[in-house]
Amino acid sequence: MERPAPGEVVMSQAIQPAHATARGELSAGQLLKWIDTTACLAAEKHAGVSCVTASVDDIQFEETARVGQVITIKAKVTRAFSTSMEIHLKPVTLLTEQDHVEHNLAAERRKVRLQHEDTFNNLMKESSKFDDLIFDEEEGAVSTRGTSVQSIELVLPPHANHHGNTFGGQIMAWMETVATISASRLCWAHPFLKSVDMFKFRGPSTVGDRLVFTAIVNNTFQTCVEVGVRVEAFDCQEWAEGRGRHINSAFLIYNAADDKENLITFPRIQPISKDDFRRYRGAIARKRIRLGRKYVISHKEEVPLCIHWDISKQASLSDSNVEALKKLAAKRGWEVTSTVEKIKIYTLEEHDVLSVWVEKHVGSPAHLAYRLLSDFTKRPLWDPHFVSCEVIDWVSEDDQLYHITCPILNDDKPKDLVVLVSRRKPLKDGNTYTVAVKSVILPSVPPSPQYIRSEIICAGFLIHAIDSNSCIVSYFNHMSASILPYFAGNLGGWSKSIEETAASCIQFLENPPDDGALNCTHPLLLAPGLEK
Ligand code: ADP
Repeated sequence: MERPAPGEVVMSQAIQPAHATARGELSAGQLLKWIDTTACLAAEKHAGVSCVTASVDDIQFEETARVGQVITIKAKVTRAFSTSMEIHLKPVTLLTEQDHVEHNLAAERRKVRLQHEDTFNNLMKESSKFDDLIFDEEEGAVSTRGTSVQSIELVLPPHANHHGNTFGGQIMAWMETVATISASRLCWAHPFLKSVDMFKFRGPSTVGDRLVFTAIVNNTFQTCVEVGVRVEAFDCQEWAEGRGRHINSAFLIYNAADDKENLITFPRIQPISKDDFRRYRGAIARKRIRLGRKYVISHKEEVPLCIHWDISKQASLSDSNVEALKKLAAKRGWEVTSTVEKIKIYTLEEHDVLSVWVEKHVGSPAHLAYRLLSDFTKRPLWDPHFVSCEVIDWVSEDDQLYHITCPILNDDKPKDLVVLVSRRKPLKDGNTYTVAVKSVILPSVPPSPQYIRSEIICAGFLIHAIDSNSCIVSYFNHMSASILPYFAGNLGGWSKSIEETAASCIQFLENPPDDGALNCTHPLLLAPGLEK
């Protein structure tokens, strides 16, 4: 048998009725307890002294386990810092199959962990501008008053280690119970835990403490609800004096299913008090950070591309390119994640796939913006994500094939793309120009060892004329795993690259290079027929 690596611990548990919810599913709280125990044992194996949980990174729950099943949890130390260790955890049947986590990913997460407070405070400052927006759109929004829940637990010896310190996992399990009740009051359905936001234990708690848990719904996002829980500890004297110690606060994200197992959509929240507003905005900021972290941290496998370029199918490939972009733009559920002056960023998360929409007000005519944006050879002039862009084939007036190279990111090899760009002028009575982009497979430009061949699933611009001298340019991108790293930091709030690129695009469209320069790089000149 293989010897476990140093610092590695494996725990298998048979799921009994006592571990399950009324629906016979393993309770998330119990799972958190087992995860915490396993992690703690791994840390102690590494350190040789008893350990306590200091902080927990974001946890995602992907599947449910049921009574009668066996769950195996593996924990190993991924990296030790001077006074703390990071444990990589893998409850085998419950978490996503992630690639093995390398040393530097642990460092990346630590960076995010240390920056978390600053990032959060910045996002909060920024989002205070949204308060007017919140008031604007609230039709059918509900108050969260009915979702407030309180509970008290007395810490007994079985809840603590041999030094009398309360197990972190036990506290998390109690938090989860209270949060579940709170979520269920908003929907009167069956909430199930989807993820837990990263949090720190602020101070210890010991046997004999009374732990007071307060929970309330902070915000809802389509099929998700965020419940916040605050935990305070009181020893006997503190209890009498009503003066507690803040142990931690955590934010839990739930989905809820109706009796037919369909996900329900939560009503929008109407914040009323000052606290409501702060928590409402806090939930939005945390969602952004989580989104960024999730995509920085998970190395998802790329789904292989399957659209082959075929000149005989040009019309249908071109039409489907344009239609896919229009469909993406028309989707419901886009959420504003940032606004600065003329730039607004929206995101849409569907089945773990993320799309971004960047809306820009541009002070130039729509037809000019259309001409400039549909010529991808100009893109490196304003978009730092494009190092080079060359025409491979000038297929027709409205369809071109390009080879794009992207900059190096995180010391990886640079990425490259082969894309079809299809453009359309507005229909007779319309005023929207379309420039759609998607990756295609082209035998004449195979992947090269120098580059990581990447993919654009669906992206492009919709340009909407406002008057003869201004327009709204909307950029969309339905993210593939390979493109995500360019956006993740931005969504997570620790980089401003989307805003910077958008500002540079506006600048380019409002002050285009003079027409002579435009003409000499016009793709027509590179069209195969003319080149020869
Ligand atoms: P904040 O209020 O800034 O989010 P706290 O640490 O005070 O930070 O609280 C964490 C979360 O716990 C809150 O977002 C809220 O969801 C919940 N909470 C805090 N206090 C109460 C309370 N008195 N009643 C119900 N829920 C509470």
